[in-house]
Amino acid sequence: MSGVTAIKRAESYLANIAAKNPEFNIFVSQRNQNNVIDEVKTSALDTDKKLAGQVFALKDNFCTTELPTSCGSKALENYVSPFEATTSKLLREAGGTFVGKVNMDEFAMGSNNMISLYGPCKNPLFSPDTPRSAGGSSGGSAAAVAANMCDFALGSDTGGSVRLPAAYCGVVGFKPSYGLISRYGLVAYAQSFDTVGILSRDVATCETVFDLLNQHDSNDSTSLSDQLRDQICLSVAEKRRDDHKFTIGIVEENNLDLSDEVRQAWIKAVEFLHAQGHKVVTVSIPSVKHSLPTYFILSPSEAASNLARYDGVRFGYRAGTDSDQGVLYAPTRNEGFGDEVRRRIILGNFNLGSDFFGNHYRQAQKVRRRVQHEYNAIFRTPNVLTQGEDVNNILDENVEFERVDVVVGPTSRTTAPTHDEVNNAEASVESYVNDVMTVPANLAGLPAITIPVGLGASTVGIQLTGQFGDDKKVLEVARILERINQQ
Ligand code: GLN
Repeated sequence: MSGVTAIKRAESYLANIAAKNPEFNIFVSQRNQNNVIDEVKTSALDTDKKLAGQVFALKDNFCTTELPTSCGSKALENYVSPFEATTSKLLREAGGTFVGKVNMDEFAMGSNNMISLYGPCKNPLFSPDTPRSAGGSSGGSAAAVAANMCDFALGSDTGGSVRLPAAYCGVVGFKPSYGLISRYGLVAYAQSFDTVGILSRDVATCETVFDLLNQHDSNDSTSLSDQLRDQICLSVAEKRRDDHKFTIGIVEENNLDLSDEVRQAWIKAVEFLHAQGHKVVTVSIPSVKHSLPTYFILSPSEAASNLARYDGVRFGYRAGTDSDQGVLYAPTRNEGFGDEVRRRIILGNFNLGSDFFGNHYRQAQKVRRRVQHEYNAIFRTPNVLTQGEDVNNILDENVEFERVDVVVGPTSRTTAPTHDEVNNAEASVESYVNDVMTVPANLAGLPAITIPVGLGASTVGIQLTGQFGDDKKVLEVARILERINQQ
């Protein structure tokens, strides 16, 4: 991209932010515009850099030294981090220009980006007068990409928070395998699930960003070691498809209560892949039906521990000393956190209490392992993390499945609901149910990407999921599926 093109494009992004942000509430803080343009000017000339001239946004839970990192919460309102997230640092070193922070559900808990200190984010594909959900919790990241406010954005995906908003906003959303991208500087929600994800308008951009961020970070204790990365490369290479023809699975258990549009898009995607010469087979992962309850036991339990640090002593919001609620800790947390976050902290502590630990937390961990093993039984590529564990008896012996390269399914049960529909839905249960398609990949740590599939005037997110570490194959099939929109 020439310097002039890059500057023009960056200027159009800034103009879109200025024009649309007041109505859609996507950005929550922005860098000085002259600095942004100056940086793009310099970076565009440095064509050796992978992200020369590109502009990106960050979800408000990535630590940056330049703007506040509030996680959409009063508990961290105006909090400025003393250090920079590894991901943000790597993007800037590669020539990317950071434009600002985007809206999110408080502490990444939610599916519609309607629970935020800054108010709800609106989906830019629809009129702001009858607003529709941008999806959550990374609603701002998806909306910023869909509204042409940046080239790409980072979000975090704990149970689907990159893929669900990407599906609702008609963009690409990729959650890599757990541990590939550093979480250093990503504010924790549930650390054994949290994954940095990438949102963009095409798979090529997403892959460029992934390739850059996919490296070990000694600051993150869960970042995969170089040795494990080498093992993954070997095991993936063994199962490579040199003819680029893949076996694609349809998971029986995904055949749930889907909206007509979603079902049609799923069929269209499967027919397209079949027409391109790939083999389509049906597979079963019986335990995925237990994914939601498992996720909603484990993730609040981890959240309860992670969020204990917001005590009003070291950083963030502190309640006034004249509070009538007694000591500092309780009023600080009562006033700092919103209803949903408080609900999850209570739920998490309940599950971890000695009376319920065995029945809830430990059982849920077992189901999580089971889901992982069942995925291992359907993929051609072995899982380097669980090698040596017996997976052969996991599926019903009478059923013979052909092993698959990736599975294809819907990203969500419906397209974006209106804000009114979300508000009228019964408590939070309806929004919890919407994570049913995305949560399994987080339980098993698998790579999963959503691709917008055009259907008349609208788009529906279709998801591809692969074996742990087989991220490049998932991206390759995604590039094939993306062509469905050029027909
Ligand atoms: N919607 C899910 C939840 O509320 C997922 C959130 C996420 O991935 N951060 O927990």
